[in-house]
Amino acid sequence: MDLREELCEYGRRCVEQGLVIGTSGNLSVRDGDLVTVTPSGVALDRLTPEACPVVDLDGYLVSGDTQPSSETPMHLALYQATGAQAIVHTHSVFGTVVATTMAELPPVHYNALLLGGTIKVADYATYGTPELAANVRAAIDGKQAAILANHGGVTIGGSLEEAFSATRLLEWLCEVYVRGLAIGTPTILTDAQLAAVVDRALNPPTFPRRP
Ligand code: 13P
Ligand code: ZN
Repeated sequence: MDLREELCEYGRRCVEQGLVIGTSGNLSVRDGDLVTVTPSGVALDRLTPEACPVVDLDGYLVSGDTQPSSETPMHLALYQATGAQAIVHTHSVFGTVVATTMAELPPVHYNALLLGGTIKVADYATYGTPELAANVRAAIDGKQAAILANHGGVTIGGSLEEAFSATRLLEWLCEVYVRGLAIGTPTILTDAQLAAVVDRALNPPTFPRRP
């Protein structure tokens, strides 16, 4: 599938899975020095490949008749700071609940390691601004995700599939944490417990065959 078609496909999935409503959220995918991004103000299930503009890493419009997403500065900042090839930004419900109440999403489940462990909440700044881009760039901190204060979440990946899976996982982790807080005090995994998970994943036991 061509990258612009893939962008539209994952835009549809964001809507189908309830990760965005209305015209919120945006996605992009990198190909060398060029980035194809969703157009600003268009619902992610109404995208067409021709309507997705292409910008260069300096933010200049290279092709397309539509305006790139207002969050293009954030996407470009993340491409410059990380090895990302694709980025997904949503206003998913539980991610946004954490974004409005917490300074970080602690690792309450070992799957948090798939995103890099504790996920930071970037300081608030107005959507679309270079300030927000800088805050998110600082918050991602070698992880695969960051949360934007009073706004939503963003994930990066080596492909749209990876960035989208990371967005789903981020939302799941936020939901588990928020629902846990509703009935008690979620236990946060210790560094030693997390290290043991990494060790186990790197050295899985082999099952002996029955003689
Ligand atoms: P765009 O429609 O400009 O991509 O904006 C949506 C959004 O989520 C802003 O943060
Ligand atoms: Zn947004």
